[in-house]
Amino acid sequence: MKIRMFIICLSLLFVTSLSAQEVKQDNSTCKVSANVAGDEKSNSQYLYQLMKQKKQQSPTGGGAEVRGFDKTIVFPLRIGFIQHPNKRGSTRQFAISRTIDILNEAFEAANIEFYIAQIDVISSDLRIGDLQVGAYDIYDQFSKQYDVDDMISMYLFDYDDQLCKESSGGVSCGRTGGFSYILSNRTNNIVLSKFDLEDHKVVVHEFGHFFGLYHTFERDQFGRELVTGDNCASSGDMICDTPSDPGPVYEVYVNYSKCRMIGYTDTDTNIDYTPLINNYMSYYKPCFMKQYTFTPTQLEVIRAAAESPLRMRFQER
Ligand SMILES: [Zn+2]
Repeated sequence: MKIRMFIICLSLLFVTSLSAQEVKQDNSTCKVSANVAGDEKSNSQYLYQLMKQKKQQSPTGGGAEVRGFDKTIVFPLRIGFIQHPNKRGSTRQFAISRTIDILNEAFEAANIEFYIAQIDVISSDLRIGDLQVGAYDIYDQFSKQYDVDDMISMYLFDYDDQLCKESSGGVSCGRTGGFSYILSNRTNNIVLSKFDLEDHKVVVHEFGHFFGLYHTFERDQFGRELVTGDNCASSGDMICDTPSDPGPVYEVYVNYSKCRMIGYTDTDTNIDYTPLINNYMSYYKPCFMKQYTFTPTQLEVIRAAAESPLRMRFQER
């Protein structure tokens, strides 16, 4: 099976290739093969250290009270609406309140709220796909130019008119939903395609990254999580209530009606993989009649990130 390697990609990106002989679907494109933002790994380690200290300071050494989600943390958002200079007026009517509702529904479990504090229209002919050129160089430049210091920006970009390209080899299609670095201070933003404004996963997934969550199938930064889960706290996404996820390459084993991976067995241990299909940070399609969720520990990470010096500066004052 062909695996497309990107230097980084923290996005939901779907690529489908169709050729005369075969149909391939490849949505395993989020390869965080390097610590590209420069501080993602060290910031994550810092956060886990903070969480550990907090647990040790707790009189009972852990448990529900450690979560301490009693106080609502509020983050004002600054929306950067990217407007093509030659298409002025054509896309001014946009409904982002639904996007914020979706985000708030997901983050409510961590007692975190977002609201729109500022909207800026940014004139640029860049589309979401353009930002990923090189090792996200254009994205970094854009962020440097437009980010504000004390607010999380959410940039809404147009997507390519042509999502599919025909060539002599067949047709290849791709679409980027959004991206964000993981707990990085290199940029202060989340990027979202206007295509996915009302999608129930993409915006939440990207904010999950911004608040410290890795993919459930993460293995490049901290190594592979064993199917037994024995090394769950120090590998993969470093979270123990998200079972080892072989990643979307193995999506063929997923029964979406049952919302389960069925029959993909680790040959060394003879144990079946049971990744969370409907988790916000996995890379599977939606399960039938089942909402996306964060696990309790994922919520703890989000909450700890929101309270940490890394994200505190964006809180409402
Ligand atoms: Zn991602």
